[in-house]
Amino acid sequence: MNSKIKQLFFEYYRDNFTIDETVIGNFRQREYALVPFDAPDKMVRHLAFSEFSELKKYILRNVPLHLYYSTAYYNTPQARNMDEKGWLGADLVFDIDVDHIPTKCKEEHDTWRCLDCNAEGKGMPPEKCPKCGSSRIDKEVWVCNKCLMVAIDETLRLVEEFLCDDFGINRKDIAVYFSGHRGFHIHVEDKRMLRLDQDARREIVDYIKGNGIKVELFNPLPKLSEPGWRGTIAQGIYEILSMINEGNEFIEGLTERDIKYLYEHRESIIKALDDNTIGSFRMPKPLLRRLVEQIVNRKAVNIDERVTTDIKRLIRFPESLHGKTGLKVTKVDLSVITEFDPFNDATWLQTSIKIKVIERIPKLELGSLKLDLSPGDIVILPASIALYIALRGKGEMVELI
Ligand SMILES: [Zn+2]
Ligand SMILES: [Zn+2]
Repeated sequence: MNSKIKQLFFEYYRDNFTIDETVIGNFRQREYALVPFDAPDKMVRHLAFSEFSELKKYILRNVPLHLYYSTAYYNTPQARNMDEKGWLGADLVFDIDVDHIPTKCKEEHDTWRCLDCNAEGKGMPPEKCPKCGSSRIDKEVWVCNKCLMVAIDETLRLVEEFLCDDFGINRKDIAVYFSGHRGFHIHVEDKRMLRLDQDARREIVDYIKGNGIKVELFNPLPKLSEPGWRGTIAQGIYEILSMINEGNEFIEGLTERDIKYLYEHRESIIKALDDNTIGSFRMPKPLLRRLVEQIVNRKAVNIDERVTTDIKRLIRFPESLHGKTGLKVTKVDLSVITEFDPFNDATWLQTSIKIKVIERIPKLELGSLKLDLSPGDIVILPASIALYIALRGKGEMVELI
């Protein structure tokens, strides 16, 4: 089975793998790394190439299951010791991955099992086994359309509200890639960001996630058009007020008394938020705290902080294939991201594949298909979906159609 998939990967890299040279700035100063198809537990690191065609030659001889490059630039990227590489700077990168975002549909399609005590469950896998505390958790996770929509929404808010509006980064310096699995990578190539150290990047993460926001900053209430979190909190309060019409509504994160208070003071609060009035309003602190928490939960973006704060990170190479899915790390235009369908837009395969199912596949919506397959089923599927199932070890490729 693997040899058929390897052949498909090889043909992809031979016939379809191209990038615009400008996609990876300072190509010679990056480290490249790959996981070979034939040794999936091994990571070959510290590779360096002077141009894309050289890299391509190399990977045609060593077909990768996964291909990476460093977000960092180095004097000597091929040095085997990190300290000898000579760090020059690093792109600012963000990872939005549904793995870290609880979605309701995970109850339907994700399962986990503790390798130490065999406890198991459905939904988002815990970091540690709730029964024995072990962190050796075997997870089976899938990406469905609903999961993907959540990632798309987070990506749009990250780019538009935080990177462009709050940080003033130019849209043309931001590239968004489908990660090949359950999310998106956002690359910022802005000279002003290159030299930021780990602490500075940590501050950016804290800002975007709303970590440690001080409630006192919002008393008296800010105005709607203020920049940054002040304006966001004002808008959030305004949205909550617009959901309160009778004073007895249920709003997550708020108590009955909170709602009643907001209902009774509605007019004065709206006046205080309004940019065109001079009025101000001081909110009782416990209520303001619950409001701020609720709004931060909704408006912060769930980025994986380890990726952004790591200044020597390896990240998936644009247009490379993800070895767990067979999907391509694909550049996505933000203006059409809500239409993005990985099984159509992140594949190079236009054919169909006949596949024999060997393990149960949960009810899933993938692209335009609804799946629910049992062992022994033999089905013809769009090649991208068949390859995805085969790479998950849930089916065997029979033939290309
Ligand atoms: Zn356990
Ligand atoms: Zn889902």
